[in-house]
Amino acid sequence: MKMNLQLDQIAPLSCNKCRRLATYLNETKEKQPTWFNAPVPSFGSINSEILIIGLAPGLRGANRTGRPFTGDFAGGILYQTLWVHGFANELYNANGNDKLVLNNIRITNAVRCVPPKNKPIGSEINNCRSFLSLEIDSMSRLKVILCLGRIAHDTLIRHFKLPSKSHRFSHCKEHIIKPNLSLLNSYHCSRYNINTGRLTNEMFNNVFIKLKQIIKN
Ligand code: SF4
Repeated sequence: MKMNLQLDQIAPLSCNKCRRLATYLNETKEKQPTWFNAPVPSFGSINSEILIIGLAPGLRGANRTGRPFTGDFAGGILYQTLWVHGFANELYNANGNDKLVLNNIRITNAVRCVPPKNKPIGSEINNCRSFLSLEIDSMSRLKVILCLGRIAHDTLIRHFKLPSKSHRFSHCKEHIIKPNLSLLNSYHCSRYNINTGRLTNEMFNNVFIKLKQIIKN
């Protein structure tokens, strides 16, 4: 696919720190040679004030298109919501061939390679945290980190070495990490969470309303 200029490769495309994921990527590559099939780069400017962290690339979503959240159900919800709240210039195209530009937001995943059944294991989350840490340390204007789901929240808590008891995941909760840097929680906008009603469009919208309030303060 045509690569968007806002994509930044922090993890090398050849990274194979996670043996299980490297094997799965190789198997997928054999079946689907035209797909991206590599660690998915982050999307959006490194100078953004907001970082969104998802779980991992979806098999037929980001692993296919090479852009976070692009091409699957969760991406449809996320990019629509970003557009509604003024964080994106136009509705995106699910095949990634669009002129989508994010406004003050960068998007990445806790784990950059697609995991089988969308479930990364602990060692894979730990391995990939080194790239997440590099990402966070490179964002000098960062003010808010929005974690979509508990795994993104937990890996971030470990990055900042914060006590987990006093920083529990809770939907729409803000954790102040230090002056001018907050962590905001949201349930992941996955098909499962939407279909079961754990996350509604209204709940997801309220997260972005809160995010905008935090940025203004
Ligand atoms: S998940 Fe992260 S650490 Fe593991 S192989 Fe992929 S890029 Fe490397």
